[in-house]
Amino acid sequence: MAKYNKKVCLLGEFAVGKTSLIRRFVYDRFDDKYISTIGVKVSRKSIVIPKDGELIDLTMLLWDLAGNEEFSQVRASYLRGSSGAVLVCDLTRKSTLDNLHQYARDLRKISPDAHLILAANKVDLISDHQATVSDVKELAAHLESPFYLTSAKDGDEVEDLFRHLGKMLV
Ligand code: GDP
Repeated sequence: MAKYNKKVCLLGEFAVGKTSLIRRFVYDRFDDKYISTIGVKVSRKSIVIPKDGELIDLTMLLWDLAGNEEFSQVRASYLRGSSGAVLVCDLTRKSTLDNLHQYARDLRKISPDAHLILAANKVDLISDHQATVSDVKELAAHLESPFYLTSAKDGDEVEDLFRHLGKMLV
């Protein structure tokens, strides 16, 4: 089976759910404690993807970046070599959608060929939503990326999102 290793960055403001999405995808678990990521943490998950009648073994190296620091040299080195990125916003905080334009620009400067996918997270917190599905659609169109309405808590669309990105990477 052909094997690939690909670096994937998770990008978005603090507390949008980057760490929780990785935890859900890699360990199938959720934790409602907020443990801020310091610096960078890399998790790894292998999936099998069908392509042209063959199976491909893809290992995703998922880089979780602390989101609220300013873009700097250090950040650039985190972004370098990324084949893909999950841009994460939080449906309960509209400002987290707007901020993704800057994250996408920063990434494209460093890794112009990286594939993007958008996770509009916390879809389970319906009564707290500040952003609508049409806001998310508009953002996704702008970023020219597919989008998923995810819940790291319930697991909604998390696997679908990472599998879709995986297909884009191979
Ligand atoms: P990060 O800073 O972007 O890595 O955010 P975290 O993954 O640490 O999540 C921030 C907070 O939001 C934590 O308290 C999580 O438990 C909570 N959280 C993350 N994803 C979801 C979700 O899909 N639904 C709900 N209800 N809470 C979530």
